[in-house]
Amino acid sequence: MIKAYAATEPGKLLKPFEYDPGILLSEQVEINVEYCGLCHSDLTFWKNELGLTQYPFVPGHEVIGTVGAIGDRVTTVKVGQRVGLGWYSHSCLHCQWCMSGDHNLCSTAEQTIVGRYGGFADKVRANEEWVMPLPKSLDPAKAGPLFCGGITVFNPIVQFDIKPTDRVGVIGIGGLGHMALRFLHAWGCDVTAFSSNPNKEAEAKELGADHFVNSLDSQALAKVVNSFDLILSTVNADLDWSVYLNALRPKGRLHFVGIVPNPIQSLAILMIVGQKSISGSPLGSPATVTKMLDFAVRHNIEPVTEIFTFDQVNEAIAHLESGKARYRVVLKH
Ligand code: NAP
Ligand code: ZN
Repeated sequence: MIKAYAATEPGKLLKPFEYDPGILLSEQVEINVEYCGLCHSDLTFWKNELGLTQYPFVPGHEVIGTVGAIGDRVTTVKVGQRVGLGWYSHSCLHCQWCMSGDHNLCSTAEQTIVGRYGGFADKVRANEEWVMPLPKSLDPAKAGPLFCGGITVFNPIVQFDIKPTDRVGVIGIGGLGHMALRFLHAWGCDVTAFSSNPNKEAEAKELGADHFVNSLDSQALAKVVNSFDLILSTVNADLDWSVYLNALRPKGRLHFVGIVPNPIQSLAILMIVGQKSISGSPLGSPATVTKMLDFAVRHNIEPVTEIFTFDQVNEAIAHLESGKARYRVVLKH
């Protein structure tokens, strides 16, 4: 039996929950969970805000642990090895997207906390293609958030060929946003943090921001028109997106990784003039995760974390919801 923490209804407290995972399949890896980050998407699914949650719901998709068992066809990891697991737990491996290396775009990709049980548990299983060896020099207590939040903000840097000469803005300095500041700074970009919380200015600058702008202050935003090649939005709230389109330079891109509640409104003319675009992306492919881990090792990049124990899971959720997390909550056994 696997011992997990589950909610039985939307937004209700998590309680101990056991389930029988059945026989370990040939390509599956069973991970003994040591740590698991708490992502805002866990909260979104816990509350069933997207209508996709099945209950009992076990959150957790920023897992670090050691391999406890492997199926008979697993070749990529060994028992005892330390690994990470993120949002995806299986891709079909034969569709056009998997065959192109874009396993994250596989239309039948299994998601670690959707229709199955996630990493807030003593064990979790996934197919080998999404179980990534953790480089020895990364601290296992801190590395979990790289596997969802980290790769989600690193992926656009790779996808859009962001250059060190680019000027990039990051909206929302939370779990995802703070890692974006670190990556973009190390990448060599001129980085602006857009935050609704002026108290985050000093820390945002320590994390790698060159400039700090209040994300809700229209006068401050008016001063940065025509400034950015990329603006990466990590907020889970509706903002005045037209103002951000105006802050882009020609050929600039307003890119969403944060899930905003309402349709993104903009006049087409704001994109036509200056050839600007609005786009979005999920986490990256396994190959991009490997690239990110390599980059994180080389530049000594790790998330800023606050540790809670698994039995404090409900306090941890309340802490993230309150907006007080600095900057990623990680649960440990
Ligand atoms: P988080 O730690 O809660 O950070 C979100 C940040 O957004 C907050 O720290 C805050 O930053 C800002 N914010 C929140 N409410 C706001 C408001 N009303 N007005 C202005 N700013 C506000 O969340 P996270 O874990 O980083 O996740 C961020 C979003 O990304 C969520 O929607 C999550 O579901 C999504 N996500 C998407 C993917 C993907 O595959 N694309 C992967 C992971 C997560 P400031 O205090 O700096 O303003
Ligand atoms: Zn996540």
